[in-house]
This record gives sequence, structure tokens and C-alpha cells, in this order.
Amino acid sequence: MKQALPDRARVVVIGGGVVGTSTAYHLARRGWPDVVLLDRKRLTSGTTWHAAGLITQARPTFGTREVVRRSLAVFKSLPEETGFATGFEETGTLHLADSAERLEELRRQASAARANGITADVISAERAGELYPLLYTADLAGAVYYPDDGRGNATDTTMALAAGARQHGVRILENTPVTGIIRRDGQVAGVRTADGDIEAEYVVAAAGMWGREVGAMAGVAIPLQALAHYYVITEAIGGLAPGLPTIKTAPDYAYVKNEGAGLMVGFFEPGSYPWASRGIPADAEFTRLPEDWEHLGPFYETMTKRLPVLAETGIRLHFCGPESFTPDGLYHLGEAPGLRNFFVAAGFNSVGFLSGPGAGSVLADWIVDGRSPLDLPEADPRRVAPHETSRRFLEQRVTETLDLAYEIHWPYQQRESARGLRRSPLHDRVAAAGAVFGELLGWERANWYAPAGVPRRYEYSFGRQNWFEHSALEHKAVREAVGLLDTSSFGKLLVQGRDALALLQRVCAGDVAVEPGRIVYTQWLNAHGGIEADVTVTRLDETRFLVLSGPATLARDRDWLERGIAAGEFAVVTDISTSLAMIPVMGPSSRMLLQSLTDADLSDAAFPFGTSREIDLGCGFVRATRITYVGELGWELLIPADLAVHVYDTLVAAGAGFGLRPAGYHALDSLRMEKAYRSWGHDISGGDTPLEAGLGFAVAWDKPGFTGRDALLRLREAGVSRRLVQFALADPDALAYHDEPVYRDGALVGRVSSAAYGHTLGRCVALGYVTAPEPGTPPAWYRSGTYEIEIAGDRVGADASLRPLYDPGSERPRS
Ligand SMILES: Cc1cc2nc3c(=O)[nH]c(=O)nc-3n(C[C@H](O)[C@H](O)[C@H](O)COP(=O)(O)OP(=O)(O)OC[C@H]3O[C@@H](n4cnc5c(N)ncnc54)[C@H](O)[C@@H]3O)c2cc1C
Repeated sequence: MKQALPDRARVVVIGGGVVGTSTAYHLARRGWPDVVLLDRKRLTSGTTWHAAGLITQARPTFGTREVVRRSLAVFKSLPEETGFATGFEETGTLHLADSAERLEELRRQASAARANGITADVISAERAGELYPLLYTADLAGAVYYPDDGRGNATDTTMALAAGARQHGVRILENTPVTGIIRRDGQVAGVRTADGDIEAEYVVAAAGMWGREVGAMAGVAIPLQALAHYYVITEAIGGLAPGLPTIKTAPDYAYVKNEGAGLMVGFFEPGSYPWASRGIPADAEFTRLPEDWEHLGPFYETMTKRLPVLAETGIRLHFCGPESFTPDGLYHLGEAPGLRNFFVAAGFNSVGFLSGPGAGSVLADWIVDGRSPLDLPEADPRRVAPHETSRRFLEQRVTETLDLAYEIHWPYQQRESARGLRRSPLHDRVAAAGAVFGELLGWERANWYAPAGVPRRYEYSFGRQNWFEHSALEHKAVREAVGLLDTSSFGKLLVQGRDALALLQRVCAGDVAVEPGRIVYTQWLNAHGGIEADVTVTRLDETRFLVLSGPATLARDRDWLERGIAAGEFAVVTDISTSLAMIPVMGPSSRMLLQSLTDADLSDAAFPFGTSREIDLGCGFVRATRITYVGELGWELLIPADLAVHVYDTLVAAGAGFGLRPAGYHALDSLRMEKAYRSWGHDISGGDTPLEAGLGFAVAWDKPGFTGRDALLRLREAGVSRRLVQFALADPDALAYHDEPVYRDGALVGRVSSAAYGHTLGRCVALGYVTAPEPGTPPAWYRSGTYEIEIAGDRVGADASLRPLYDPGSERPRS
């Protein structure tokens, strides 16, 4: 008999897969009563029932690895706590490399994992063969072994989580599809079902591949697409050793694990294809897709070389099931934009079983404590751009996500599908100047400029790539003459209304009650003093302000601001990003170049650093702002889109006499790293405070009432125990990218948050947090000691500094 539906609950969890049951279980374990879990069919009947069961810690980011570490703890503790098995077995994983490049990728990944405290051993092909005697290893360059990895049973784990949840008071109702989400005043208020409504304070959408549809019920965009995903299970293999390590053989697009008395061989193969992109069939339950041996056969054939035993063994099961993938290959975990208390956990890209128990515990802590226990900006559901839920976009881009899963992940690698979507008004001009484009949230952006005769394409490697020398010239032009960038993709929010100032004064840690025509660099903090946004605010007049943020943070910054509007307050936030092109003109000759094109006085006295005004330029008018993200004298020009080409042409025509060169985003990155300018989502995010990030100078300590102030004052009193430090690598050939462990006097103290080669300093420059032994450790401690950064297993010496290594006094932008 069907259980009666409660008419209210504190939390409704939608979805009885591993993620939803884990969330409900952890909420109940935190002591929250009135948690209800609903599934449209039966527990595990979505994707969970057919998960292969791999639990591998080699995930792409620090945060997602932390989620798996939480999962591992749950896999181990659950049986004792609930009396139900999870099937967890610690077998280790062997990642195989068949080339020097693949081995370097694995070595870099192993180093990154060590920053999480994960054991990852680089081993020889021979040793891999000893650990897994059935393997063909003659063509291998080496392997990396994660001894603490394991595998488990997804159905058993989910049932154990459900049992544990019930033991702690959760009500689980199967065959109860949610048909609508109730919203009230920008906040979720409950769910609708055929059996009635449930009022709820919080709703968690853990609906697996239905996530896009459930999100749409709430007006929340969740870009997912189900793809056909395969594995094969063999007949029994005589004498097969139990508990063999899992094999991940990216060169063969495959993984292998023991399954009963045989082996399971699963694939992340190129040529994947979408399933049910126009909507998942209403009766879908324990779905099996048709076998497709024509597609899979050649990959299986290849695997018979890696594991010759396969050639002599029959196939017991050829399984194909749907799994949802996302455009960027990372899941969505956290509170949704525009709807308070509506949490999303979806798009697990075939790592939902190994991430699910941890993801559920993260969400539960987040809901109970009001803040995420982990910094996971990469999983933020607010990172979505509107085009990303288009069916055609998803079909193309998400297919590529799976196609690339087992390819080498190169630094600066660009996607090739669904390109050319969002173009700056200057697109054709910068293309004509030789731009080689990268893509960010659909925007085509000039990453570097290929001189005439140089092929306009990337040649990827872990060392200096083919654009290195060309980008160096762009960097040099900005440092020594003048460079011009097209940053039109930047987010621009117009904040206006009677209460715009009051709103911004509350949201900004800096003081924006400045004269019209001034720009303020500021952070937006959460109640714990963590940095939710890193923006500039330009006061246009009494009641209008312009907020500039990055293209990737625009949606979340807008969401944060709109949430900040108090009841009865009149302030309107409008996204005007695409109505304005943006050209930073940067470098010591920028003043001379611009002065030759305008009647406005650009002298330091008339147009000081930190000011902004409309000036004539060519035959039109632009907003010029004296600010910099590269550390040089310069102006950022905001130009009405219709005038952008004229202004660009005018600058380029006049620029020849001043050594003007177009510069791309790789040069920008190199320039900003030398100045240690922070990047949100990399160097700073919600778990980092301005005091830790070295941004205390941007805080208006005397301004009462801004969000996060109390927490920040307490922290200032207690003293911080970690700080963002800038490093310059001693070896000029070494290149760090992100997540490399940082050692001080031989002890692990942190990891790199971002890095780039600094062409002026002639070395790779990195930023990274360093944790001190205790709060209040003086700055001298961070600067002293012997630092090393681990890159692909090798420790490289590094100089550390709390002040920018380039122009520490910041005299150049003020010249
Ligand atoms: C072949 C294959 C192999 C895999 N191997 C692995 C592996 O080795 N390791 C790994 O980590 N992952 C693996 N995965 C991926 C893993 O199975 C998924 O990522 C994971 O199960 C997702 O769990 P979930 O809870 O998000 O989704 P699901 O298990 O799909 O659960 C979502 C639930 O939501 C319910 N639901 C949907 N809409 C509604 C609604 N409107 N109202 C109420 N309920 C609703 C559904 O009925 C469903 O039960 C594999 C996937 C495939 C296809």
C-alpha cells in the first residue's frame, strides 16, 4: 500500500538514486527531522542501478577529489552503522600510460592528488604487470597506482543509505513523481505531486538525468544530456585472482574490474551519442538501451590486446545504459540561481556513484550550516549560460565531453564542438588581426595572435606550446609600449535606483559611496567573510553604478546582488554586457596613443588612477576608466557596441606609431600573474577571506553594516592561519598550471591555485595558499623557509612573496 503523503516537510529530496538517498541520509544524521525523499519510480531505478561501481580518486579538481574522499569514508562506515553492505572493496586503481605525454599527465594528476593527501605512486610498466599479471604491458610508458581506490555496489550502497536514512527518520516514498515546484518570493516553498502538494523549506533536486526537466519546473537551467554508455561483462575466467586492482587504460578508452568470476570492461570511447534529447520517456525505469556492437566492437577488439584473456573468454552481458553528462564535464552541486533554498545535485558524468555519498554529505552540511563545507566553485549551478540548455548545443557539446574523457587533458585545451556562438562586436577585426580563439561560456575570445604565416591552431603539450613566443611579444608590448585587448565578453551589470547605493554599500566590502566618476575594486562577502565576488564598481551618478565581473561569474554575481535587495528597497540590476564592447588599452605608451585621439585631458592630474569618465575618441564617445588588470598605465574603454569597430579601427590606425599590438588572454594571464592579481574561482572564492587572500587593503574597515564585516573583524583579531602567496619557480623551464602541492621546508603546506609563465620575470609564476602552524603567524613566516612546488612528481624550488613580484609598489599604473 502506498504511504500517505505528508503535507509539509523541512526538506524534500527529489530522486532516490545514490545522490538523493545520500543527501537524505546525511540530513537526518545531522539531526534534521521531517526529511522526505520522493522517487518517481523505485529507488535506484534511474541510473544508479547499473553503475559499474568504480571508486577512483583521480578527479580533475581539488574540490571534486575532496568529495570522493568523503564518499570513501561513507562507503567504509555505512555497513556498520546500518547493517547493510555497500560492497566496498579496497583494490586500488592502476592508470596506464602508453606515451611520455600520457605519463606526464598521470604524473601531474598524481602530484595534484597528493595535495589532497591522496596516495598516488608512479610505477613502471613492469610493476604494473606484477600488480595485474593478465595485462599486456610491453607498450606502456608507465603507470600510476592509487592503492586506496576501490569499488563497490551502487544498488547496495543506495539501499544502505536508504536504510540508514529511514533509521534516522526520513520518509521515503516511491512511485511519487514530482510534477511541479512551488516558488514564493524568490524562494522555494514546496513540491507538487499527483497525490498532493508538500510544503517545504528546502528542496533538493537530485533527479539524475531528469535534472534538466526538474530544473525547468523551478525555472532553473541545468544543462544535461543523457548519452549511451557501455560496459561488457565476460563469462567466468578460470583462476582469475579476486580483488585485482581496477585498470584504467585511457589509451584504449577503457576500464576493467573484477565482476563475479569474470571481468567487467567498460568504455569512455569516442563517437558517443545522445539518448532522449527531446525528453526522457515517461515510463523509463531500470532502462537498458539496445546493444550496439557495431559501435563498441572495435574498442573491445583493441582491449583484447591489452588483456589477451578477453580473446579466449565469452561475453555474458553487453550493457548499455543512459548517463547524463554536462557541457564542461563537471557536475552541478549547490544552490540554484534565482531560487533560494532550491539545491541542485545533477550531471554526474559517470562518476555519480563514487561522488554521490560525498556529494550528499556536502549538500546536507551546506543546508544545515548555511554554508558549503567545501569550496566547489567549479560545480556552482550558477555557472550556466542561457545557451547551454539548448538541445542542439547539448547534443553537440556534451557528446564531446564523453569523447574527450579518456583523451589527454592538455593545458589550455579548447573545445571544438558548438563553436562560434557568442561573438564580440570586434570579432571580425580581431580575427583579421590573426586571433586564435578560445572559448568561454560560448564566447569566442582571442587567446593569442598568430603572426602572418603561422598556422592559427593550438599544438598542445605540457611544456611551452606553439603560441608561447607569440604571446610573449604581446606581453612585451603591454609592458614596454602599448597593447590592446578585446575583453568584450566581460560581464557588465547596471545597478540603478533610489536604493542602489544602499544595496551596494551593504554588499560591497569596499566603500562605494564615492564621487561619481570613481571606480572601486571590491569584494562581495558572505556572512562568514568569504569572497563571493571580485568586481569593480564604477559610480556613474547619484543612483547608477556599473559593476564589471568576468564572463564566467556574471550570472552568479547578478544572483548575489539581486538576493541582496532588501524588502521595500528600490534597486534594479540589468545585464548590459552585450550592449558594450570593451577594449583595455594598456602599457606605458597608452596615454600618448589615446591622447592623440581625444580632446579630453589624460594627464595624471586631470585623469588620475581610479577615475572614470566619458571621453570623445575618434568620431564618437566612450567611457574611459583608469584601472588595470595587467599592472601598467592604461585605460579600459567601454564602447557602445555599434561604435566598437570604429573605435577599434581608430586605435589601430593611430597605434602603429606607438608600437601598438593586439594582445590575447594568454598574455593577459601572464601579465596578471606577475602582478599577483587574483582571479575569482581560482585564487579566491567563498571559502577564502580578504585577509587570507591579501585583499585586506580593499576592505573599508570603518564602513558599518556590510555583509561579512563582523566575521572579518573577528578574524582580524584572531589572525589568519593561511595566506595567498605568490611564487616564482626557480627553474625557468618548469611550468605549473594549478593544484600542484606546495612544500615549505619539506612539509606540505598548500597548493597552487593558478599559474602562468611570466614573460617579464622569465619564470613561471604561481599563486597558492600556504597554511601556517597557527593563527596569527606573522607575514615573515610565509616569506621565509624553503619552498618547493611539486610538478609531475618533481619538486621545483620557488621564491615566495606576499607583495607582487613585478612592480611591488604599483607605481607603473599610477605613472
Ligand atoms: C554504464 C554506466 C556505468 C557507470 N559506472 C559508474 C562507476 O563505475 N562509478 C561511478 O561513480 N558512476 C558510474 N556511473 C554513473 C552513475 O551511475 C550515475 O552518475 C549515478 O548513478 C547518478 O546518480 P543520481 O542519484 O544522480 O541519479 P539516478 O540514479 O538517476 O537517480 C535519480 C532519481 O531521480 C528520480 N526522479 C527523476 N525525476 C523525478 C521526479 N520528477 N520526481 C521524483 N523522482 C524523480 C529517478 O526516478 C531516479 O531514481 C555509470 C553509469 C553508466 C550508465
